[in-house]
Amino acid sequence: SGPRILVSACLVGRPVRYNGTAKSLVHPALLRWLAEGRVVTLCPELAAGFAVPRPAAEIVAGRSGRDVLAGNGCVLESTGNDVTDLFRAGAQAALTLAREQACVFALLTDGSPSCGSNFIYDGSFRGILHDGTGVTAALLRDNRIEVFADSEIDKLAARLEACTANDGERFNSPSIE
Ligand code: SF4
Repeated sequence: SGPRILVSACLVGRPVRYNGTAKSLVHPALLRWLAEGRVVTLCPELAAGFAVPRPAAEIVAGRSGRDVLAGNGCVLESTGNDVTDLFRAGAQAALTLAREQACVFALLTDGSPSCGSNFIYDGSFRGILHDGTGVTAALLRDNRIEVFADSEIDKLAARLEACTANDGERFNSPSIE
């Protein structure tokens, strides 16, 4: 048992990215959490109904997922198709699952317009990154789920160890408001 972690499906080897690939994260901590049964996986974009493969999408007219949630930004596919509502639906599906499964933490693929938590593409479709969060990462953070990027797995492992040692009771039976 111990705190549960919502993990981007592509990090555990599911080939669900827009281009049909996975982004497998090979790390002993992730293997341990999987064996302990505390990993809950989801691809927010598939949950919203997107197919594999699908056109690349970026947040435009807004800097980050928070702008999209606030109605000040949108998500477009490289074809120009507006998929803002689907990205919001995917974020909501992730939050619903995280709550149902009592996830306290999330480990998400950086750079994605859904899962990015440190950086995302800048909306120009020219492969340029800037600071910002994807729509799912923003919604999870707004709801007090601690989001870590795939590159921050060591930080998450340390955080988990600390809170299991200090606050095991609370994290074994989290109260969801
Ligand atoms: Fe991976 Fe998230 Fe993109 Fe799905 S939406 S492919 S889980 S980064």
